[in-house]
Order: sequence, then C-alpha cells, then structure tokens
Amino acid sequence: MGRIRVLSDNVANKIAAGEVVERPASVVKEMLENSLDAGAQSIRVEIESGGRRLIRIADDGCGMLRDDALLAFERHATSKLHDVHDLLSISTLGFRGEALPSIASVSRLLLETRSPDEETGTRVEIAGGKIVVCDEIARGPGTTISVRDLFYNVPARKKFLRTDQTELAHIASLVTHYSLAHPDKTFELWHAGANLLHVTPVDSLRERVFQVFGSRILEELIDLGDKTARLPAQDPEDEPTTYTLRGFVSRPQVQKNNRNSIFIFVNGRLIRDRLVLHAISGGYHNLMPASCFPFALLFLDCDPGEVDVNVHPSKTEVRFRHGSWMHDFIRDAIRDQLMASRPAPAFSLNPQPAPGLPYSDFSQMLQEPLASPAPEATVAPEFVMQAPPPPAGRFDFGGAGIPVNQPLAQRPPDAIKLRVPDTHSGFPLDAIPIDSTMLRIGDLRPMGQLHNSFIIAAGPDGLWIIDQHVAHERILFEQVLTQQAAGRVEVQQLLIPVILTLTPGQQLEYARIEDELRTSGFDSEPFGNRTIAIKAAPAAIGMGDLERVMLEILEVSENELRAGSVADLRRGIAASIACRAAIKINTPLDRQKMEWMIRTLAATEYPMACPHGRPVALQYGMREILRAFHRI
Ligand code: ADP
Ligand code: MG
Repeated sequence: MGRIRVLSDNVANKIAAGEVVERPASVVKEMLENSLDAGAQSIRVEIESGGRRLIRIADDGCGMLRDDALLAFERHATSKLHDVHDLLSISTLGFRGEALPSIASVSRLLLETRSPDEETGTRVEIAGGKIVVCDEIARGPGTTISVRDLFYNVPARKKFLRTDQTELAHIASLVTHYSLAHPDKTFELWHAGANLLHVTPVDSLRERVFQVFGSRILEELIDLGDKTARLPAQDPEDEPTTYTLRGFVSRPQVQKNNRNSIFIFVNGRLIRDRLVLHAISGGYHNLMPASCFPFALLFLDCDPGEVDVNVHPSKTEVRFRHGSWMHDFIRDAIRDQLMASRPAPAFSLNPQPAPGLPYSDFSQMLQEPLASPAPEATVAPEFVMQAPPPPAGRFDFGGAGIPVNQPLAQRPPDAIKLRVPDTHSGFPLDAIPIDSTMLRIGDLRPMGQLHNSFIIAAGPDGLWIIDQHVAHERILFEQVLTQQAAGRVEVQQLLIPVILTLTPGQQLEYARIEDELRTSGFDSEPFGNRTIAIKAAPAAIGMGDLERVMLEILEVSENELRAGSVADLRRGIAASIACRAAIKINTPLDRQKMEWMIRTLAATEYPMACPHGRPVALQYGMREILRAFHRI
C-alpha cells in the first residue's frame, strides 16, 4: 500500500490557518475585508483580551443566505470568483475562500447573519472546525461573526502571541488604517468596553485623517492630492492604463526608525511591498537620513489587471505588471510634493518624546485611554507617541474640529486664565501670516549668532534659528548638483597629487564610479597596486579634507548606492562634497555673511533639510510666542 494519504479537510484547514491566521489582527483583517466586500456601511469591531478571548465584527452588509452561511465554511467556498479568468482581475478583497474555514478551525466561532432577501436569519456555531449548532434566528440584515478562544486547540501557536497590549496595537492599527481607506463608512473599535475609535462618514480623506489623528498630526503631513499617470499600451489594440496615487506623507522632519508607519493600499487592499517602500524612500532621498523612514499613507489605484494579488495566502503581497514604471511614478509624485511644500520644523513648547520609537511601543500608550474613565477618547495609533492624545471628550467632526462636551475641569489652566480681562492683549494678529509653517526664509533679517554656530533671524512669522553649517551644506549640495548636470564643476588642480591606498572593496567601487567621480570634478587615476592618485578635485573642498571626502564617497556608494541610479550616485557624491566644504559651527560670521547665507538659502530648491535629512532651520512661530506670553 502506498504511503501517501490525502489530508482531511480539518487538517488542511489548520494548515491553511497557519498561513492566514498568524495572530488576532489577521482574523480582524480577514473579517474586515469580508465586511467591506459585503458592501457594509458601518463596521463595529469588539475585542477582549487583545483578541485572544473575543473578536467580534458586526456589519450591515449584504448578509448571507441560509445555504451560503454553511457553505462559507467549506474550504475554497467563495461568492467572489467564478472561473479562472476572474483571477486575472480581482476587484474584491477576498477571493480564496480560505479565511472563514481557517479561522473556524482554530477557534470557537459564531456566525449570525441575515440577507435582506430572507425573512429569518441564520446562526452557525463551530468549534475547532466542527459545526455544533445551525439554526434560525431573528435579526436585522447584516453579519456578526464572533471568534472566541483563538488558537485554543493549537497551543504551539498560542505561545507565539505577544501581550494583549501588543496584539491590540496591531488590531487598532489595522482598523484605523482600513478606516482611512474608507472615509465614507463608519468604523468603531472597542476593547473591553472602552471605545478606541469611532469615525462617522465624511467626504474626504483629509477629513478622515483629521478624525483619526487630529489637527496637530495633520499639520505634519503633506497631502499628495490626486496624482495621475498614464502608461501607454504596449499593444496598440489595448487601452492605456491609468494609475492614480492619493494620500499623505510626512514632512521630512518626521523621522521614524522603522517602516511601521508606512501604509500602502493598492486598490483598497492593505499590502506590504518592497518596491513601493523603495519608491517612498527614493522620494525622500537626500531629505532624510537613509536609515530613517517617514509616515506614509498611500492609496494607489489602477486597473485590477495591473496587479496580481494571488501571490500569498494572506494577500498582503502583490506583484505589479509594470513594477519599475509604477516605482518611478510613486517616487516622483512624493518628491515633487515634498519639494513644493517646503515645510519648516517648528519649535514645540511641549517637550516631545524622541521620534521614531518602534511601533510596538504604541501598545503601552494604549493603556492610558483604556484605563481612562472617558470611554469616547479617540486614539491615534503610533502618533500617540509623538503628540499628546486629543483631549478626552468627543470631537465634533462636523464642526471644524472644536472639542465639544469637554468638562471645564479638563481644560488646560491656560484656557481658564485667558478669560480674565487682560490689559496686555490687543496684539495685531492680522500682521501674522496665517500659514506660519510655510517657509519665508527670504524675508528673514539676521539679528546675530548664537554660540558662533546658529544664525538668529526675525521674520514676519516669528523667530528663526538657522544652523549655519547645515544651511551652507544645502546651498553647496545644490550648487554641486547643478554643476554636475551642466558638466562644469569648478575644479582645482593639485600641485602634488594626493595618493590614496584603497581596500580591495574600495578599489572595486572606485572602478565602478570612476566616470561619475570625473563628472563631479575629481581627476584621479590608478597608481600602482590598490593605490590612486588624485590630481584635481572640486574647488570647494579644502586639501586637508580631500582624502576623507574620497573615502566617504567610496564607502557610501558601496553601502547604499550599489542598486541605485546614476542620479543617486551623483547626489551621494554631492552630499559628501557639500558636507566637507560647508563652513563649520563655531565660526563667527559678520552681518554680510549671514545675509548672504539667508539669501542664498532662500534661493535653493529645498531649503529645509541638509542632504542627510537634518533640519536647516527651526521656527518659533509668532502665535506660539504670543501664546507663551498669554497674549492670545
Ligand atoms: P473569500 O472572502 O475569499 O470569499 P472567506 O472565507 O473570507 O472567503 O468568506 C467566504 C464567503 O463567505 C465569502 O465569499 C462571502 O460570500 C461570505 N462572507 C464572509 N463574510 C461575510 C460578511 N461579513 N457578509 C457577507 N458575506 C460574507
Ligand atoms: Mg474573505
């Protein structure tokens, strides 16, 4: 007798569950997607013990017919695919028919559902994949699925679960981001009876971002608007395809040390994709350190035929038909918008925690609202770490974001103090530009230097502090880039060549980028074994710095730019030159030099960050100053 056996459905489901159901958040994801596919307008998620004890999702979608309610738990049973051609253009979030049977095989599941086409509803109870009860119930149209005791029959899996707070953080992040993808729907998230998120339908993504994160975070974000690109058809018979990109990205000063704040939706599906991540980093190239990541919330929409979503069981990976074209589209869309919106980092009167805490720390922050007696607080995931949570009490989302129903006792003392008649008031507020975060460097008047390192300047929108080294670095960086592009880098011939000995790795790198080095003003040639002679160099670099600049270029290009384009390489070289050539801190500057610096900086393309992403200037806004003096 042969040794091969066909696995029972129950075992097969458990195996599938291994891929589909990694943790409570995966259950929430699958069920949210089902509710959205069912056309729900309102989705309520209830969690207990981080999802271990209970995950309940109730929707007002199309519900299931009685026969379908049972069939839904059969493996590969789906209402969303009919034949193999449908696989080529999937427009629903689900299609594999695997989620419900997988989840049911590793939990105690209760399904209650009714389709508007039937008088009565259906209740199906399943434990560990076996149907326990199936009967009629009375209920309104829609579906409620309760998943209890997740992994109760898979102890090995259970062991891998993290703390309730961590699991809840994953769930909260997921629900939040799906709510961002569907501003026209209601989403609620409850944990142990406390409301963590409640958003009602709004007209735009911007309003939804405001509902979820509050105005303070919205200020840190840049709206990409609606970016569209058309890809001409390769075959003249075909129609050209159109890609659109919407969403928000953070200003370059918001720097996180991992990718956990990047959310990518492709045709409404939350995915992880290395190509898109790379495109986002490319958009921030030279605006942010290479090791840092922004916040990004991107919605890419294209013809369903352009993406293959049938790549991974959890449907979180996709394959693009025109990957590299799409990559460049996203990168350029982000970069253009960042360039257009030249934002300045503002001082904050409230000390802020260091940016870039790992996402999982969000779980600790969650504890606060959970324990709070005000159950209606809206939680902004990961941002909670960077900004204080919005005041307790409900936001009136229709009414310009003014907190209402906020008890007086919870108001900051300042707000109460300001009610006292104040003889110091009357500052002409009209004189302050409304948008004080927009850069007005050209209008600045230098007033002096702080520690011979920072230029203090006054402008119509407040007080500015400019890091003289970083500012000069940005100026030189853009100059070198322009000179490279024009093939006219200012060069100094060296009387005595500088001889450099390279490691084997550096030597390979040198050979690879030799032409680019020449374009950037370095005239060098091999000089014996693993040694090069530099005969000319960009005029901006002092002789003493030459060796370090060259080694830095070789190192950076080896580490970061191996896969990068020529433009990346040039930028890397320009950044190294600019950094070495810029004036140092601890250098006294006279008024004329400070004025030159401000003028020239104002004329740069992106005056707000050095090529490595450090901020050039800090702004202490006029309103902030007035507030601190209790004048407004
Ligand atoms: P898939 O989503 O890939 O089709 P699932 O196992 O997630 O597979 O769901 C199986 C089927 O159950 C779906 O195709 C759908 O017909 C039905 N279903 C699941 N959840 C819901 C829901 N919330 N409302 C209506 N129908 C649902
Ligand atoms: Mg599904």
